[in-house]
Amino acid sequence: MEIRQDEILSLELPYRERLTLRRTIYRGGDGPRVAVVSGIHGDELEGLYVAHRVARWLEAHPTALRGQVELLPAVNPLGLDTLERGLPTHDVDLNRNFPGHADGLLPQRLTDAVMTALAGAALVVDIHASNIYLREIPQIRINQCFAPDLVPLARPMNMDVIWLHEAATVLEATLAHSLNQRGVSCLVAELGVGMRVTPAYGEQMLRGLLATWQGLGVIALDAPLAPCDHRPLVATDANVRYLNASTSGLFVPTVEHWTAVRKDAPLGHIVSPFGGAVLAEVTAPADGVLFTLREYPLVYEGSLMARIVATGDPAGKEAAP
Ligand SMILES: [Zn+2]
Repeated sequence: MEIRQDEILSLELPYRERLTLRRTIYRGGDGPRVAVVSGIHGDELEGLYVAHRVARWLEAHPTALRGQVELLPAVNPLGLDTLERGLPTHDVDLNRNFPGHADGLLPQRLTDAVMTALAGAALVVDIHASNIYLREIPQIRINQCFAPDLVPLARPMNMDVIWLHEAATVLEATLAHSLNQRGVSCLVAELGVGMRVTPAYGEQMLRGLLATWQGLGVIALDAPLAPCDHRPLVATDANVRYLNASTSGLFVPTVEHWTAVRKDAPLGHIVSPFGGAVLAEVTAPADGVLFTLREYPLVYEGSLMARIVATGDPAGKEAAP
């Protein structure tokens, strides 16, 4: 196996530092190329850890690779350096600036370099974390327009949820949409919490990536892979229920994340810091599984506290551990 690092873009900054987009390439043969991308949002670190776990596995199994694995773990280095979601110099969301332009402003040059680097890949997985307010169970999010091609690729990924969402114009300038439109399959993974690493989720995702790549011929069929034991629930805009706070206060959940719940079951309460009052009881709007749960307790009226995939039948409930 050959390991090399290259720079897909290097630009001079005003004070003569250089902004560099780095890639690590593992090559084991002429099989398909796949890529892991993360750090488009500078406050999301879960994907950086997944990239590390992939690298560590490949380095420990140098004869298992039949194709090429590329890691672009830090697509927004300035954002990562300064703990900012967007590109600090231009105050824009890089993931709303695809596909970019080689002669454009800095954000467009960065996104163009990423698009160029990923051309021809058999599969790209763009890994995001949630923000600091919400914890997300590992999930793949797919735009309905690409569902026929992408759902079969997402199923072996060892995720807990596949969320098929309606097409939205604002999402057309994302990396995933731009790649899928150019015929490069790209899955968007969302897991954990912003500014944090959740090692168990990283491990879950590593297993799913390796199994998926094995199915594509990137990893040898006899490679010793750990089992994938997560079966995804399919969420759509029709069966996802949102729980928004009815009043401001401190939201204290009384259930664990990724729990199967019955309609009207208590999920937590909103309490007052100024007295003993419980301001609101929060209950499940439907039978289902709690796949998003608020991590940051302070809520305003309307704040999102949880999301449930409504299952509506007892069989679905068994999908939760
Ligand atoms: Zn993100």
